[in-house]
Order: sequence, then structure tokens, then C-alpha cells
Amino acid sequence: MQKKLMITDYNIKGQRVLLRVDFNVPLNSKGVITNDKKIRESLQTIQYMMQEGAKIIICSHLGRPEGKVVPEFSLKPCAERLAKLLKTPVLLSTDVGGVDTHKLVRGMKDGDIVMMENLRFDPGEEQNSEELAKKFASFADLYCNDAFGSMHRAHTSTSKITEFLPSCIGFLVQREIEVMGSALENPRRPFVVIVGGSKIKDKITLLNNMMSHADTVLIGGAMSYTFLKAQGYDVGKSIVEDDKIDFARLLLEKAEKCGTEVLLPVDHVVADEFNFAAESRVVRTEKFEKDDIGMDIGPKTIKMFEREIFHARTVFWNGPMGVFEFQRFSDGTNAIAEAMASCGKNVTTIIGGGDSASAVERLGLQERITHVSTGGGASLKFMEGTTLPGLAAISDKHE
Ligand code: ADP
Ligand code: MG
Repeated sequence: MQKKLMITDYNIKGQRVLLRVDFNVPLNSKGVITNDKKIRESLQTIQYMMQEGAKIIICSHLGRPEGKVVPEFSLKPCAERLAKLLKTPVLLSTDVGGVDTHKLVRGMKDGDIVMMENLRFDPGEEQNSEELAKKFASFADLYCNDAFGSMHRAHTSTSKITEFLPSCIGFLVQREIEVMGSALENPRRPFVVIVGGSKIKDKITLLNNMMSHADTVLIGGAMSYTFLKAQGYDVGKSIVEDDKIDFARLLLEKAEKCGTEVLLPVDHVVADEFNFAAESRVVRTEKFEKDDIGMDIGPKTIKMFEREIFHARTVFWNGPMGVFEFQRFSDGTNAIAEAMASCGKNVTTIIGGGDSASAVERLGLQERITHVSTGGGASLKFMEGTTLPGLAAISDKHE
């Protein structure tokens, strides 16, 4: 993979650096941040810039205000939380690159931090607007993208801006592409990929790419029922994407041609209704009854998947094994997380995907995983082998 220029490749003393971060944090109904992980993950790059004496102009989107000023989506809570974490003032502009931003930037000293209001208050942001990019470039000398979770979108602050400012990536993005890039291009083998979650439709390209890259692909979650149906099993009332049955069959054929082993669940925790308190029992794949809904992988499947994980040198996981939001259907997902966490330092374990990452965090296992990607959609695109527009836009490093 082409190397990208990093923030450390520039002399940033006294420079005005426009830093794109992903502060799209969850807020409760009172507007209080319920999880500040994304903010904490950006600290390394911000602290580096402070130490080097840059003038740091931070920008991010938050929620979907759709090009209008929506006070609930103000970045104020993020500016306050960042100030608290850094123990330094963070001034928030009232506009997106307008008169107020200019005024705050003019008043900056080396090491100071200014945050612009929510990028998506301006309709130009999501339109990848040249006009807005020029506005941003008028008060900055350098652009740094450390928002991995936004790199799969071509917006002004991730793409167009690079046409008007020299560009680079921060430490967070660097780590994402280093760990996932080597798993994609040159994984230590056996390379085991676990795919779950709700829809094949969302993961067509990932599955297709992994059938040729991985040594073993383990399939769980709702999507496994489409594969099982493709193999002729009756899966009761489990979720099946009927228009993807042929595709599932093609994937299994491709895997066979590539010598990739695909393992589908051999047993399931089924319920009679889609409900957190539903009656449940374990059935083998060939024993579904007509009203059974597959909610989780069963104990034999857990054992089978664990065995594969324990033999791997690289493991990539995307998508829960069951309806893990309901405690009684979370065993499969939890077991995969635990198995990956107990792999030890010699195994590269990677988790991509919003729901899989939150399952691991809920168990407090993230420290024992090599890399939990900060980008749900972006990590999926990356592992699909798709070029991320935000990454393609950054200047290449020539060594
Ligand atoms: P990720 O965010 O990790 O990529 P997805 O968004 O693809 O994962 O899928 C997560 C969703 O899949 C969860 O909401 C989970 O409840 C759902 N899911 C997993 N297994 C099943 C199942 N057997 N039936 C219905 N939904 C399922
Ligand atoms: Mg999801």
C-alpha cells in the first residue's frame, strides 16, 4: 500500500494546522456525552501538535443536522470535554469557517486550540464543496486527517480540502491503516475471518474479498441463514435475504476454488419470537422447526469457531454472531470476543464494525485485542479492499 505523509513529516512550529477529527460521539437526551472514546483517541495527535507549537484548528461533524444549524448538534460538549482532558482552553467558533472562525484563528498563539462548529451545519460539507474548501484553506497552512471513521466519505473536510492545502494523516489513522493494511496485504497465516451481523447485502464486497484472502471464513449472525438456505437447509423463520441466496452459493463456490475453508453454524439458539425474553432452545442446523427464529450460534458452533481462532495468527472479526443486544442471545458474540482476547500477543486480532466493537467494549476486552478499529463503515470499506476517498486524497510519501 502506498505510504501517506504523516504529521511528523512536516515542521509544524507556528503553522496553522486544520485537523479533521471524528468527534461524532453519542449524546443522551440532555446533550451529555455518554462515551468519549473518540475524543480520547484523538489526544495523541493533538498533544503532539501542541508540543510542536502548532496552532491547532479542530473540525468534526456530529450527527446529521443536514446542512442547517441545529443547536442539539453543537460541538460545545466536545469542546468542553476536550478542554477537560487536555487541561487547556478550547475555543469554539460560532460558525463553520466564517467571520468568527477567522477572528479566533487570528488571536491564536503557538500551541493554542480552536474548534470550529459542526461541519455539517454548512450544506457545503457533505457536497464536497470547493467554495467551502477554499474558505477553510484561507485560515490554515496545513491539513491533517485523523478521522478514520469519516475517511470513506468524500466530503469537503475529508477530500476537497486537500486540493487547497498540503495534507497528511495523524497517528490514529496511521495506526488503522498499518494494522489493517498488513492484515489485508500480507497477513500472518492462518488468517481467520469471522463475519456476522444482520445483512449479506451490507457485506457483499467484504465476503467476496475475504473468500480469496483468508484461510478460513467463519460465518455467524443473521447472514448465516441465507448461506444455510443456499445449501438447502430449512431455517424456519430466521432472517433470510431471498435475493442473496444465489450470491451466497456463488461465494461458497468461490471459496472452494480458492481453497478457503468456510464454516457455517452447526447449531443455533432459536426463539419462537423476536423478543429479549423469548423462550429459547438449542437446535442443530438440520432440525429447525417451522416457527424457529435463529437468534445466536449454538454451543457446538462456539466450540468449532473457538478452535479456529486459537489456531490463527491473524483474526479479523466484523459483525456479531447473534442478537447480542438481548442478553440471552449474546453468548456467541461474547465467546468470539473472549476467544480473540485470549489469543495472546503473537496473534494479530482486529475488530472492525460498530456493533462488534461495542460488544467487545461492553465486556471490557478491548485492551487485549490488537486493534479495535474506530471506524465502523470505514473499516468495512478498508477490508473490502475499497479505496477510501479520504485516504486517497492525502499526499503520498516518497521515500
Ligand atoms: P457491525 O456493526 O459490527 O458491522 P452489523 O451492523 O452488520 O454489525 O450487524 C449487527 C446487527 O446484527 C445487530 O443489531 C444484531 O442484533 C444483528 N443480528 C445478528 N445476528 C442476528 C440474528 N440471528 N437475527 C437478527 N439479527 C441479528
Ligand atoms: Mg452495525
